[in-house]
Amino acid sequence: MSQGLVTAAYIVAAILFICSLAGLSQHSTSMRGNFFGIIGMTLALLATVAGLGASAEMMTRVAAAMAIGGAIGVYLARKVEMTGMPELVAMLHSFVGLAAVLVGFNSYLHHDTDMDAVMVNIHLTEVFLGIFIGAITFTGSIVAFGKLRGIFSSKPLSLPQRHKLNMLALLLSLLLLAVFINPEMVSLPANLTPTAGTQLLALLVMTLIALAFGWHLVASIGGADMPVVISMLNSYSGWAAAAAGFMLNNDLLIVTGALVGSSGAILSYIMCKAMNRSFISVIAGGFGTDGAASATAEEVGEYREITAEETAELLKNSESVIITPGYGMAVAQAQYPVADITKKLRERGVKVRFGIHPVAGRLPGHMNVLLAEAKVPYDVVLELDEINDDFSATDTVLVIGANDTVNPAALEDPHSPIAGMPVLEVWKAQNVVVFKRSMNTGYAGVQNPLFFKENTQMLFGDAKASVEAILKYL
Ligand code: NDP
Repeated sequence: MSQGLVTAAYIVAAILFICSLAGLSQHSTSMRGNFFGIIGMTLALLATVAGLGASAEMMTRVAAAMAIGGAIGVYLARKVEMTGMPELVAMLHSFVGLAAVLVGFNSYLHHDTDMDAVMVNIHLTEVFLGIFIGAITFTGSIVAFGKLRGIFSSKPLSLPQRHKLNMLALLLSLLLLAVFINPEMVSLPANLTPTAGTQLLALLVMTLIALAFGWHLVASIGGADMPVVISMLNSYSGWAAAAAGFMLNNDLLIVTGALVGSSGAILSYIMCKAMNRSFISVIAGGFGTDGAASATAEEVGEYREITAEETAELLKNSESVIITPGYGMAVAQAQYPVADITKKLRERGVKVRFGIHPVAGRLPGHMNVLLAEAKVPYDVVLELDEINDDFSATDTVLVIGANDTVNPAALEDPHSPIAGMPVLEVWKAQNVVVFKRSMNTGYAGVQNPLFFKENTQMLFGDAKASVEAILKYL
């Protein structure tokens, strides 16, 4: 395939990726956005492979690698439950990070010796930054995967002097960058091989530091701030891909990496604003927080229980109902009976709406996706700031598998790990029914005083079974 055709295909693919991002920004156009992304990626892959101009043997290897990778991807995507998506995404981010590290080392070891000194310096900086960002993304994403899977505790790791340790890692990396691009070494092209021991050593030491740094950055973040970390790692994976694009001289990889990097950064910023967190503090591993936040899972009073039949009665006597779903609805796959209840109540003339917290569930837009899947009309699904003032005028709130996102401790307890995070103020309604299986805490590991309030009643059991039981009485 001629270089001109490859470039043309890359431009079309880049435009399709931009259309994809635009489509994904709204529920109603998200399917189309996904479709554009798939076409763009297929085109990009075909053009890249066709443009390689490699030998038949090399093409066979590329085809075999693509077939194996593609088969694993299809298998995982078909097998994964919706609740496992965030973990899968975290794992995929780690692959991007690892790929950037490998491309970086490869690019350093098999380096074009015809470059002039300035280009060599630029190239070495690209290699160094690519490996640095890639290594942070790699271990950071593995920790995020472990925290989401429950392999690692969701509580923040608080090493003594943790901010100084982070600062030291950054300063050491800068120093190693200076060693790595030492003009004396790069002016001798023959030294740009593994025999340039100091240079390679600097790169290896920096890689180890960056691996530890990425691990520590994400381990230091508490449960409630994980959504921001995940979108931040998404952004890092984009920058790592862009760095790999520079090293491989692949324009489309640079553009795609920059699109992912900047959209991830914008998403992180939006999430920080929504959760009243400092962007800098979160990306610097909790920098600026006092570290005194304490979580307790102890019960803080008496709670009252309610049955499915009594809940159905309560709903029949309500004029307005708000449903606030959370991670438990995803686990129970309760969105379908929830959609049925909504339909039934609306037919009875009850005003039913949904209140969606920006970090409900385990990935951005998790609840919106589930409700759309169950065909709940978009116009009754409202964001936190659109609905928060309406709870006081609401008869009944159904908290279905939500916990941290409806926890009043965020507003009432300055020492809580979730202090300052805006929450759905469900306790202001006349009646609150909480659907969960036990008195266990939510993701942040904090007990929820909502459960012990006068107007709250607990409906214990799997959310899907409970909602189906209520449906029978309606
Ligand atoms: P939480 O994780 O706080 O709580 C979920 C609740 O659901 C638990 O209390 C659990 O209680 C209950 N539950 C679990 N399974 C079932 C079931 N089968 N039936 C009924 N109830 C069930 O959920 P929220 O959505 O309120 O909050 C999300 C949390 O996740 C926040 O802390 C957020 O920061 C974090 N997070 C969010 C991400 C995002 O991008 N949205 C990413 C990473 C983390 P029990 O075990 O007693 O049933």
